[in-house]
Amino acid sequence: MKPAAFTYHRARDVEGAARLLAELGDEAKIIAGGQSLVAMMNFRLARPEHLVDIGGLDGLDGVRTDPDGSLRIGALATHHAVETAPPEAVGPGFAVVREAMRWIGHLPIRTRGTVGGSLAHADSTAEWCLLAVLLDAELVARGPSGERRIPAGDFFHGYYTTALEPDEILVEVVFPKPAPHAALTEFAERQGDFAVVAAAVDLRLDADGRSVTGGRVALGGVAPQPVRVPEAEAVLARGGPVGSGLFAACAESAAAAVDSPPADANGSARHRRRLIRTLVARACEEATAR
Ligand SMILES: Cc1cc2nc3c(=O)[nH]c(=O)nc-3n(C[C@H](O)[C@H](O)[C@H](O)COP(=O)(O)OP(=O)(O)OC[C@H]3O[C@@H](n4cnc5c(N)ncnc54)[C@H](O)[C@@H]3O)c2cc1C
Repeated sequence: MKPAAFTYHRARDVEGAARLLAELGDEAKIIAGGQSLVAMMNFRLARPEHLVDIGGLDGLDGVRTDPDGSLRIGALATHHAVETAPPEAVGPGFAVVREAMRWIGHLPIRTRGTVGGSLAHADSTAEWCLLAVLLDAELVARGPSGERRIPAGDFFHGYYTTALEPDEILVEVVFPKPAPHAALTEFAERQGDFAVVAAAVDLRLDADGRSVTGGRVALGGVAPQPVRVPEAEAVLARGGPVGSGLFAACAESAAAAVDSPPADANGSARHRRRLIRTLVARACEEATAR
């Protein structure tokens, strides 16, 4: 199917794009890589009357680690640009970010789809959304009234819904601290499909790397937005040697904590609960293997 008719606008800068969005109101949408929006328009799930193309804007595709250790990624950086960034841009402390890219669609999608587009689209199983929640990222948005920084924990409001105002543009995501013992893993029906369930952990290990002293656990595909799992994090906080039953206990606790996982054509609630158990344990193993 083809999309409904729309008027195309090419933005010259972020301020101009924000002004246009404010002028055009609810009937306007930003287009970046188009990898999600165009499909929705073709299926008539979205019918914007105006598209504001930010794809050509300069200065929004940077990928760099700052001297304070934070990783800053411009909204127009593609998934592939992050996957292939040099080590001085995405170092071993953020290996989880680089490696998570391989789970996103296929190469042609990764070369066009953008980090900002994925975060703004807010699919509950999207790898960027899960990483943002896991690593306490800050999302930087700019609109007619200036710039604001939104913690990932406050950004995702539900299925495909975020804290962004209709005239705001996501310009950057900032991951504040390296996570050298983090991993993301998932299960999808076929290579390149969206995950049915995705799990990510960020473990704290002691100096010799033999004991876990705490960590964070996040899940995608089990609720309208990616979620942290405090019950599983409490198990990690109790600590214990790597390779003990700690990871199994953490996984069990994550599976028990999720309140009625969704049931749909991709799997029953029971199937998803089993996936949580398997994937959390696997992510813990992968995180400690770094
Ligand atoms: C076959 C297929 C498989 C895929 N598999 C996966 C997968 O496994 N995991 C995954 O995460 N994604 C997957 N994707 C989606 C892909 O990652 C998209 O690139 C991403 O969801 C959207 O990025 P985009 O730049 O293409 O955004 P667009 O499609 O251009 O826009 C998406 C939405 O975000 C808004 N938007 C875009 N940029 C901004 C911005 N800077 N500020 C504010 N709003 C903005 C748009 O208005 C629109 O509502 C898949 C896509 C396809 C077609």
